[in-house]
Amino acid sequence: MITPLAAGIFEGLGAAASAGLAVGAYAYASLWPGSRIFGTAITAPARPGELALTFDDGPNAAWTPRLLDILARHEARATFFLLGSRAAAQPELVRRIATAGHTIGNHSWSHPNLARTRASRVREELRRTSETLQQITGAPVKFFRPPFGARRPVVFRMARDLGMEPVLWNAMTSDWSEPSADRIAKELMKKIDGLERRGRAANIVLHDGGHRDAAANRAPSVAAAGLLLERYAKSHRFVTLDAWG
Ligand SMILES: [Zn+2]
Repeated sequence: MITPLAAGIFEGLGAAASAGLAVGAYAYASLWPGSRIFGTAITAPARPGELALTFDDGPNAAWTPRLLDILARHEARATFFLLGSRAAAQPELVRRIATAGHTIGNHSWSHPNLARTRASRVREELRRTSETLQQITGAPVKFFRPPFGARRPVVFRMARDLGMEPVLWNAMTSDWSEPSADRIAKELMKKIDGLERRGRAANIVLHDGGHRDAAANRAPSVAAAGLLLERYAKSHRFVTLDAWG
């Protein structure tokens, strides 16, 4: 029997409920991936054994191609949340991601903290990115992940207006601070195995680019993805967000 996907989707209480929150709690909740007060978002369904590898802040000329090679070697599909500004500069790389069968999502144009960005600019960040990605790949963009996980009700509403489902995560470590691949992989395995014990799939975040510095070293993140693929390839199923959306 397939567990209803709805079980993995947080039901939001909406804007009205958040109005009563203290400022501190509001700020905290706006950055906490499990927070439910900012509307519904996909994290991961109750399907232990399913793993979604997701990569943020690309495309990146140095690291994305290496990652694509590793994924191809394992015949695994992943989800790439791309920055519109970087995608526009590297359309060939974006096409390569799409052609390989991976899912492409919107991660905003320039990676601002959308919890502190005025609504008109939020809309522009999202709209311009989706339009650019669709122009490059020919396919509509169905998923949106807010930079830093930062959000407020209007951000998710705008994403939905543009035909996208907001996506958060439930397995992340600070891979962007460049610890060793081993350490990144071990931290994530701990989280993945813990989620599985609680009957949940894992929505794993790694970074194949740097939103501030395009020259950031992502070798550890890319290698960590390889370690996860090796460890779970035989026992688990790697899925894209399309399987959960
Ligand atoms: Zn990001």
